Amino acid sequence: MCWIAWDKLTRGKREGGLGLRNLQDFNDALLSKLSWRILSNPDCLLARILKGKYFPNTTFLESKLGEGGSHGWKGIIIGRDLLKEKLGKIIGNGKKTSVWDDPWLSTKEPKRPMGPAPRQFKDFKVADLFIPNTRRWNEELINVLLPSCKEEILCIIPGSYEVEDRLAWLPQRNGEYTVKTGYYVARGRSLTDQQAAGTQDNFHWITDIWNGKFAPKLKLFLWKSVQGALPVGENLAMRGIMSQSRCTHCGEAETTLHLLFLCPFTQAVWDHAPFRNPVEEQSFTSVKEGISKLKTLTCLPPIGIDGGTLAPWILWSIWLSRNSKIFSNRRTSAKETLNLALIRAREWTSAQGEQRVSTQKAGSIRTMPPIGIQCHTDGAWNEERKAGGMGWTFHEDQKLIGQGSKAMEHIGSPIVAEGMAIRLALNQALDLGFTSLHVASDSAQVITAINSGDPLSEIYGILQDISYLSLLFRSVTFVSTPRKANILADASAKLSLCAFLAVGE
Ligand SMILES: [Zn+2]
Repeated sequence: MCWIAWDKLTRGKREGGLGLRNLQDFNDALLSKLSWRILSNPDCLLARILKGKYFPNTTFLESKLGEGGSHGWKGIIIGRDLLKEKLGKIIGNGKKTSVWDDPWLSTKEPKRPMGPAPRQFKDFKVADLFIPNTRRWNEELINVLLPSCKEEILCIIPGSYEVEDRLAWLPQRNGEYTVKTGYYVARGRSLTDQQAAGTQDNFHWITDIWNGKFAPKLKLFLWKSVQGALPVGENLAMRGIMSQSRCTHCGEAETTLHLLFLCPFTQAVWDHAPFRNPVEEQSFTSVKEGISKLKTLTCLPPIGIDGGTLAPWILWSIWLSRNSKIFSNRRTSAKETLNLALIRAREWTSAQGEQRVSTQKAGSIRTMPPIGIQCHTDGAWNEERKAGGMGWTFHEDQKLIGQGSKAMEHIGSPIVAEGMAIRLALNQALDLGFTSLHVASDSAQVITAINSGDPLSEIYGILQDISYLSLLFRSVTFVSTPRKANILADASAKLSLCAFLAVGE
């Protein structure tokens, strides 16, 4: 029997579904994968064949379906249209990005300046907004042309060297398309407004159920209770299944709320439970209300189990007692039911403890290689002023041989400050004539991006510069370091930011 509409099941867990795949949307997401390959790899054989046949005089993004397209081409166009919804242009040198037609203003959402473009500027490329022969924004020109987007533009940091602009799939931080993110975009698009509105019911599916510290089968059980999919008497009667719809304990109508919270039998179970404060189950007016209350419960000291962990096991045991009465005519008392819940909860909790110990060993701290010059960098950030402070130090044989700091406006996020600190440190190291360098930063994200070549859209230009500058050293390594090993750089970044903010006030 189908207890819950397919459409509900395919909602994300946050929206009260099970996150099952809707096949149509999943198929679209897979098609987008193919379209992404054509887009990001225009020289591959498939892309060239398709271009010759379907869009000889335009680009893939602008091509139309036209008449007589093959089944395959139609699919590719469907995938491409999905891509277009979240495609952005990331600025490297700004030469191939149209100011008015490309979505280049944000790395989060596709955003382009509002037109119409003044006629003499309509073919402007982003590079035309730089001061000639630099990669610095021409603020005067921007004031005239695009005053409403000025802040956004100034926060974009182009590459200092020749780096081409790139198309990026914005839902993924590195700009690479993935079927998973594509699926969510497709799913969001096909939910009607009404369905989307239906999910705004103040119930926190993730905190109240899915992130709970209890067994997965209990999560599914709680989810079913809330969604009205538990085969209790009332739900069975509603679907025309004539079984007895009365409560097996007290003979009242068996609803989910009655069975789990209101039945005198159930109340006896709750009242014996070792919680610090009474559950007050008799006051609950809905299953949702009851289940959101569970996570706030705390157990009395000797129990050794989290209240939020024990409570779902109590519900589960109430459910099992009810079933064993109906199906095997075995009666379980309220006390026994509670004891079974305690035993089940303890067993499960201790099994979790063993797992945790075994995973704890991973993730030891990497230490810096001992030879060459050590460079520590750090970035500090002020959200209100969108300002960043960057600090760095150079050590040789434990001795401080150089340091620097800089603060500036139009730094869009902490990660931009971290990346910028590394770029500035590399520049200074080259000026000082260092040939081999070990760079340490406490931003694991930036270090991972540098080492894996992952082009994080947010700091694309900076990363490209770092990889270019790296080529100018005989050897350079990048490692992430714990914050407490980075104190000096951290202090100098913060100091320079503070000084900067003080002057501005
Ligand atoms: Zn009852």
